[in-house]
Amino acid sequence: MNRQDLRPVLLTIILYATLDLLFTWVSLYTRPPGSLIGLFRSADTIPSHLLLLAAGGVALGLISTLVFRRFDLGLLVLIPSIVVLTDLDHLPSALGIVQPIRPAHSFIFIALAFILVATVIRRPDLSFAVMSGFFAHLGVDTGLFPPLSPVSFDYYTLANYQAEFLALALISALTAGYLGKRRATGKRYA
Ligand SMILES: [Zn+2]
Repeated sequence: MNRQDLRPVLLTIILYATLDLLFTWVSLYTRPPGSLIGLFRSADTIPSHLLLLAAGGVALGLISTLVFRRFDLGLLVLIPSIVVLTDLDHLPSALGIVQPIRPAHSFIFIALAFILVATVIRRPDLSFAVMSGFFAHLGVDTGLFPPLSPVSFDYYTLANYQAEFLALALISALTAGYLGKRRATGKRYA
């Protein structure tokens, strides 16, 4: 792993954070009046929650590393970063601005993020790492979600799907590891 290899990973992190904030900003305007408003989690519970999320992300990266017996620093950095950055959509409430609950915890958001990373960064392996981090986050979060934000702010509890989300996170992490390994091996023999 040389230093250059982390550049697309950092670009992916920036792209994801920007898209997350963009969804948050758009949601301030597209939410119908009377839609559910989020309260900011009390500040002292945030570090432990984020630490738990980050640890889960690192674990996913490690599993993929072990399965494919290839140390992939990009995955180990990217997955936990994505897991944590998903909560950037709480920023307005942190600043005291009224906002709808979890505007970026949305299937439209992850679909766009997946496509953007695959087309702009041109790294499908990183797309799957992003998907892994997102669904790991959804697998741990509880409460209400707007799955079609910012188009619709109908809220659902996704508690019945947490196991499926975590399974999807694991499958995505393994797909990312597999594609990353294939990419590295292909390069070596090219
Ligand atoms: Zn969250």
